[in-house]
Amino acid sequence: MANRSFGLSEELYDYLLDAGLREPVVLQRLRQATEHQELSVMRSAPEQGQLMAMLIKLMGAKRILEVGTYTGYATLWMAEAMSNDGQLITCDVSEEWTSVGRQFWDEAGVADRIILHLRPAMETLDHLLAQDEAGSFDFAFIDADKENYQAYFERCLNLMRSGGLMVIDNVLWGGSVMDHDNHEASTVAIRAFNRALKTDERIEINMLPIADGITLVMKK
Ligand code: CA
Repeated sequence: MANRSFGLSEELYDYLLDAGLREPVVLQRLRQATEHQELSVMRSAPEQGQLMAMLIKLMGAKRILEVGTYTGYATLWMAEAMSNDGQLITCDVSEEWTSVGRQFWDEAGVADRIILHLRPAMETLDHLLAQDEAGSFDFAFIDADKENYQAYFERCLNLMRSGGLMVIDNVLWGGSVMDHDNHEASTVAIRAFNRALKTDERIEINMLPIADGITLVMKK
């Protein structure tokens, strides 16, 4: 797991951020606040947040799903990229972690676009499907427990419109996906998930070596 693009030397990564990142001040402060948290490695990389923000603007995405809020750093990148009338539903089970982000969402003036569901994401996704929300989302970001990636993906795919985009996080998993002696449940799950996406005819994919590896998935 890595919260920065890991194929680059420290120096080149610093250069990339220095030359290429325009991180708004509130996001900088939220990133700093997250450094003090346990599991801070789970925070999304800033270069990834900036990429997702641009994709959201390009698509004019108005309805966004996020599976795995953590401290709400990627949430804030996405919410800031939406128009005022957009709505972002984000799922997490931790009051403690999400409360770190909430104050910054407020400060950035986008809290009214963000709806946080504090319960297992599967319940929220199943509830949205039961409410006839299939096909109504433009964009989704999946970044939660890896063992459930395939199940989250299936539900999100149903909830997305045709031409909608999903970003799947941690698909290179610190490089462990290619280590065949690594039989950790999360690694095995990501490996199987990546393999399934490769031949899934419902989607188009792009796996990118950004941050800990992300796969862009477009629903056909
Ligand atoms: Ca992640």
